[in-house]
Amino acid sequence: MPKKNDLEQNALQIIMETGSKGVLQSELWRKINASSREGSRISIKLESKGLIYRERELYKGRWTYRLFSKRKPITIDSIISCPCLTCAESSKCEAGGAISPNKCEKLTAWILKSVEVEKTPPGE
Ligand code: SF4
Repeated sequence: MPKKNDLEQNALQIIMETGSKGVLQSELWRKINASSREGSRISIKLESKGLIYRERELYKGRWTYRLFSKRKPITIDSIISCPCLTCAESSKCEAGGAISPNKCEKLTAWILKSVEVEKTPPGE
């Protein structure tokens, strides 16, 4: 029988892999070979740790939850729009210099926008 932490870790990994599609909790319990009671406990625990969020969904006439990860796998997409990649000042830009990431408005705006996108659940 798998340990509780192994089940949680497996569940979180699967939820992360489903990305913005999320996964129905019943489908997840099947994949990790957990009972619905055990699975519900895991999803509540992951949610209370701030790792996932749940959205109610009507599936085949019954209310259930779809689970989404708050963590996103790291991809090149996460930095492709960073202004530094195409900045004409990049060769002169350095910490403590006249042109610096510490005081760059373009970089600050990009970071703040990226954080907002991360905090917004899909569909909102
Ligand atoms: S921090 Fe600002 S100035 Fe420096 S390379 Fe990035 S966008 Fe350009």
